[in-house]
Amino acid sequence: MSSTSTVKCPWCHETFNLLNNLRSKFQAVENGRFAALAQCPGCMQCVVVYVEGYVGIGDQPKHCAVTQWYPSTIPKIDERIPDPFHSELAEAATCLAMGAANACAAMCRRVISWLAINRGADPEWTTGRQLNYLREKGLIEDKLYRAATAVKAFGDQGAHPPATVTMEEAEQVFSITESILDYAIILDQKLQAATRQKQEGQEPSTQKPQAIGSGTNPPRKDSVI
Ligand SMILES: [Zn+2]
Repeated sequence: MSSTSTVKCPWCHETFNLLNNLRSKFQAVENGRFAALAQCPGCMQCVVVYVEGYVGIGDQPKHCAVTQWYPSTIPKIDERIPDPFHSELAEAATCLAMGAANACAAMCRRVISWLAINRGADPEWTTGRQLNYLREKGLIEDKLYRAATAVKAFGDQGAHPPATVTMEEAEQVFSITESILDYAIILDQKLQAATRQKQEGQEPSTQKPQAIGSGTNPPRKDSVI
């Protein structure tokens, strides 16, 4: 699944190198794969590391590639993003962490479709038609349209066989989708908060803006943004 041994800790999300922080010897598991325990130096939690091509003896592996680790690292979703975007992107993140590249891309396309619906597109339409409608009506900025169209294309790949999405593509499409929500939602929240503060005659503070449509915690159950 992965060709790197440097990962984000699934517990504390700090980056660390699995092979440099082993706490057990590698054990053979099956089909030439070996497993060992690695410990995050940040939070001291452990993960099981699976490698292929192991030829070393003892604690220090040689010429091996990390293929999986458990628990997998599920990307954190910004809590300021409201539902349904948050829950849909969280599902995409779970797919990504589990190596389900096609499902991840298809979920990202759902996020884009929600964005289009939120901006006035008909929920009955295909994602492509929804995006074209937004563009024709001037309801979407050009850069956002291009990014959304790219996500839609990967989503089509993931949803319609025989096309498939690679893990690298899934990581890219997930990252683009995150950026889209950051631009389309979080930036608006920040601007609205700053404008409100200015109107109230206060200096902008570093306080984080709440999700639009709610002022309580958790903020995501309101689907209106
Ligand atoms: Zn950690």
